[in-house]
Amino acid sequence: MHELGITRNLVAIVSEQAHGKRVLRVWLEMGTRTALMPDAVRFCFDVVAQGTVLEGAVLDILEIAAGLQCEECGTYADPDRITDEKIVVVCAQCRSSKLRRRSGEELNIKAMEVEPCA
Ligand SMILES: [Zn+2]
Repeated sequence: MHELGITRNLVAIVSEQAHGKRVLRVWLEMGTRTALMPDAVRFCFDVVAQGTVLEGAVLDILEIAAGLQCEECGTYADPDRITDEKIVVVCAQCRSSKLRRRSGEELNIKAMEVEPCA
């Protein structure tokens, strides 16, 4: 299973960053074109996390669609309407022109929450 190797890497990276503290929650950005199944990643995460500082941690998967995403409000522009580069695209929600191109192949650890110091 492809997800298992990916999840092992994820747990290893987060463990290292946690410096021995218990990890309560992990936010993972995952593109919809990565061919990974979010449910499978969650399942693997629970298995791989056992016996590590991530045991029992919640995995939040934020799915990233391919296309343009507004940096102001996070709304996605319709990828079918951005093929013509001459068209200046603005966010349909807030009219911002700060749009970032997303490949849909992202896989990033966005954030993690560790147990606060006692
Ligand atoms: Zn916007």
